[in-house]
Amino acid sequence: MADRTPHTTTDAGIPVESDEHSLTVGPGGPILLQDHYLIEQMAQFNRERIPERQPHAKGSGAFGRFEVLEDVSRHTKAAVFQPGTTTDALIRFSTVAGERGSPDTWRDPRGFALKLYTTEGNYDMVGNNTPVFFVKDPMKFQHFIRSQKRRADNGLRDHDMQWDFWTLSPESAHQVTWLMGDRGIPRTWRHMNGYSSHTYMWVNADGERSWVKYHFKTDQGIETFTQDEADQMASIDTDYHQRDLFEHIRDGEHPSWTLKVQVMPYEDAKDYRFNPFDLTKVWPHGDYPLIDVGRLTLDRNPTDMHTEIEQAAFQPNNLVPGIGPSPDRMLLARLFSYADAHRHRVGANYHQVPVNKPQCPVHSYSKDGAMRVENVSDPVYAPNSYGGPAADVARYGEPAGWEADGEITRAAYVAHAEDDDWGQPGTLVREVLDDDARGRLVDNVVGHLLNGVSEPVLVRAFEYWSNVDADLGKKIEQGVRDKQDETDPKAADQGNAARGDAQAKA
Ligand code: NDP
Repeated sequence: MADRTPHTTTDAGIPVESDEHSLTVGPGGPILLQDHYLIEQMAQFNRERIPERQPHAKGSGAFGRFEVLEDVSRHTKAAVFQPGTTTDALIRFSTVAGERGSPDTWRDPRGFALKLYTTEGNYDMVGNNTPVFFVKDPMKFQHFIRSQKRRADNGLRDHDMQWDFWTLSPESAHQVTWLMGDRGIPRTWRHMNGYSSHTYMWVNADGERSWVKYHFKTDQGIETFTQDEADQMASIDTDYHQRDLFEHIRDGEHPSWTLKVQVMPYEDAKDYRFNPFDLTKVWPHGDYPLIDVGRLTLDRNPTDMHTEIEQAAFQPNNLVPGIGPSPDRMLLARLFSYADAHRHRVGANYHQVPVNKPQCPVHSYSKDGAMRVENVSDPVYAPNSYGGPAADVARYGEPAGWEADGEITRAAYVAHAEDDDWGQPGTLVREVLDDDARGRLVDNVVGHLLNGVSEPVLVRAFEYWSNVDADLGKKIEQGVRDKQDETDPKAADQGNAARGDAQAKA
């Protein structure tokens, strides 16, 4: 064979004798245990997969930069948001419920996870392409995700359990309305917005606090797939969104998003008409208009999906000086759960994987653990008298926090004047969607409900939609019953009986 460079080696750098033939006793004899190269190949292969994310398993991402184009220093002292600053960025897009390998065009919210490698440490935001979420208390998150994934008995996804959970959790109505509408299936990741969804705190150089929501508006314009288009694409190209992003960046068509924020003065939160920390609500733009901040541009593809995207660890507890959390319970729980997931998925020293490493110096006291690759030096404790790092209390001593007091309790959020589960989705249906979009929403819901949802859950679903909007509810019920009459008279009879029961009870 011709001399080729580079030569294959083992993982220890030792030249190997063959890429093709294992070591045997004669051409027809047994394989020898001493073929350490073969064994290395098989053993490494068996360990290639790490646990997939639970949820957000299917996704991809790219690198780029975030540029500040306006002056928001009156609201935050964060270095990353000071005028003229440019910061390297990593983003990962994903679907929520599907496993790795599942189709990109399933109806689902999309993850919009961002890492900004700032001069004051990594700043991570784990957003979605929707401004709201299905639940508002982390106690329900695990149950919600299980209801969207697979059944225990047959391992199948099941619309009955999805609607069972949703209709028993009326706080989901806003997100479900959004999901069943046009934006529930983006045409590509380039053609969707990203939202922090959560409310964060911003603190300026004078220590003044405000509440903030982030909106990354796509510069490519919003484009979506209809259910039919998405279904077709799922069978043509499972990885359509991943391919689209990769090919556009490869071809120099760099997608970008304009970052705008809504800023709420600190004191407004107490009696704003909606509880501003409830993740199932937006702040109407009329109340808190969008303020321009800067632009996120993606211009570099990963070269190794595993090391740069699969092992990428986004964690919303990565908050830099000038940015803090808020009383949003979902955010507060995520401050723990993301880093915990990475310790499990990637390992205790996941932050040393190059894609996760800050670009600024790290002086932490963490040490040891599986796969630590960076040397630790003495002293290994604080306080110490041997020159180890010490917290700069004068500069960073005040956490971004808020007043809290009260009995320890398990209770719902304090409801503000206009807080209810149906109002904002009703506004979306009546004031944002046009007739055509409302028609597609009805069709999407009817199609979803006709796919294995049992009668008692169906009846609750009709009530759920009537609560969002009476006319919409009527059309959805009619649509389901008409289709049942056509295709499954038995189900239609059961439906009529259930309706009779419901009317008798009323
Ligand atoms: P506005 O009229 O100021 O904003 C309406 C928003 O709806 C725009 O941000 C628009 O996004 C978005 N939108 C348009 N079509 C759809 C769709 N099919 N599905 C989901 N969102 C869509 O109204 P308000 O701020 O008073 O909000 C009214 C309702 O709009 C809310 O109840 C909420 O459901 C929805 N909404 C509100 C947002 C907010 O942060 N205030 C953000 C997104 C949705 P774009 O400008 O990109 O076209």
